[in-house]
Amino acid sequence: MSILYPLPASGILVTVQNRVRPLNDAPVRGAGRYVLYWMQANQRADSNHALAYAAQLANSVKAPLLCYQGLTHDYPHANDRLHTFILEGVAETERRLRRLGAGYVFYLRRRRSDPNDILYRLAAESAAVVTDDYPAFLAARHNRSVPPKLGMACLAVDSSCVVPMSLFEKREYAAYTIRPKITRLLPKYLKPLETVALRKKYRLPAPEFHTRVSAASIPKLVAGCDIDHSVPPSTAFRGGRVEAERRLQLFLAERLYRYASEKNQPTARAVSDLSPYLHFGQISALEVALAVKAYAAEHKLMAEEFLEELIVRRELAFNHARHAPTPGSLALLPEWARQNLDRHKDDRRSPSYGREPFAEARTHDRLWNATQTEMLRRGKIHGYYRMYWGKKIVEWSPSAEEAFDTMVEIHDRYALDGRDPNTYANVLWCFGLFDRPFAGRPVFGTIRYMSLEGMRRKTNVDGYVREMEGAA
Ligand SMILES: Cc1cc2nc3c(=O)[nH]c(=O)nc-3n(C[C@H](O)[C@H](O)[C@H](O)COP(=O)(O)OP(=O)(O)OC[C@H]3O[C@@H](n4cnc5c(N)ncnc54)[C@H](O)[C@@H]3O)c2cc1C
Repeated sequence: MSILYPLPASGILVTVQNRVRPLNDAPVRGAGRYVLYWMQANQRADSNHALAYAAQLANSVKAPLLCYQGLTHDYPHANDRLHTFILEGVAETERRLRRLGAGYVFYLRRRRSDPNDILYRLAAESAAVVTDDYPAFLAARHNRSVPPKLGMACLAVDSSCVVPMSLFEKREYAAYTIRPKITRLLPKYLKPLETVALRKKYRLPAPEFHTRVSAASIPKLVAGCDIDHSVPPSTAFRGGRVEAERRLQLFLAERLYRYASEKNQPTARAVSDLSPYLHFGQISALEVALAVKAYAAEHKLMAEEFLEELIVRRELAFNHARHAPTPGSLALLPEWARQNLDRHKDDRRSPSYGREPFAEARTHDRLWNATQTEMLRRGKIHGYYRMYWGKKIVEWSPSAEEAFDTMVEIHDRYALDGRDPNTYANVLWCFGLFDRPFAGRPVFGTIRYMSLEGMRRKTNVDGYVREMEGAA
């Protein structure tokens, strides 16, 4: 049976099962001109539970729906790559929201002297604010700091995960502890989300602070922002909903059937490359899972390996972020892994690199440099090689703490899929999170080790290195 969530003031019941969380005690106001959906983590008009909930709320208070998306110059590591990817999604989001009858305001705050209170201005005229429940980086911070300052109800809705995060009340220990719970709940939650028809169209004119974005205007908009211009747009990924849908179709038609056997082989191009789009919420894990399941059933393919990564591994990371601070620290590791790091903290590291040689892809190891080159150029590293990338930073950093900081810093700055629950959980995986002890060795102790020889044995290292050196 679905659990119904009562709206604070009106008592109307809405079915967004286990996904809604009030962020303050204020009531839904009768006098608002609209319901405001503050789009933070889920930058899409399709398959978005927060948008659906906001639409239901708007209908129930007989008001239109206004969606607001902001992009500021001063979040940590704001740079051309991240700005461009986000801006590339704006025009299509606007088009699709308008088609639904909702309003859309986008505000690009370019520099410190630009107004910094747009959300509050828009909220002041609203009946209620709905936003995304997202457990990491900016949205997590905003959802703690903003709602107490609002005079109307503010509700966060989880549209990131297939199975709502709230159903896992404590931190899960590993994939094997969360998997049976997810498997049990999937029949209920792996279902398409129906669009809610808006009864009242949004007709107010665009406010003067609304920023118009078109494909042609993006380079100029980015150049005009007071951000880090030393990180260029990705050479491989263009942002936006249309591109996310194109990549999903490509994955279904040309890659899914090879995923289980070739996913660890970067040169085989068998992975989905959807993580940047999932990170910015330009596509939802629910839509991807449903499309993959349907395609696999129609073409008699096995999709389990892919769904394990997309749902079990990804939602394990979201569970971790929900119950532990992000980016976190080595203190979040299980007891065996912490004790292990402590036992090996004085082991000699050889070679030993500071942050710069890593960031600039200047180690002695051509494969490692190639993985970092992929990060610098494309803004993402292939999944299997990203494990090698992380394990070698553990091996060659002066301390475990410095290795952790280096990995987080590089991801936050360069990765299109960085600043994500997946980032912080997987960085900790390199130190033993969600894993088990292995045979002991210097520096690593009993945490899992990865060697260049192993990579050569299992994958086409030379092909990958050639490709990345060409890209550089
Ligand atoms: C050190 C390190 C750092 C990482 N940092 C990130 C990060 O910043 N952002 C990020 O999304 N992933 C991260 N990962 C996990 C994984 O490498 C990426 O999710 C994957 O490479 C994304 O590429 P894809 O979309 O082609 O993956 P596919 O293989 O096509 O998988 C589809 C989706 O499943 C999910 N997924 C796949 N592998 C994992 C995994 N190991 N854990 C959790 N979810 C997974 C992702 O959402 C991914 O997009 C990291 C892994 C390591 C070892």
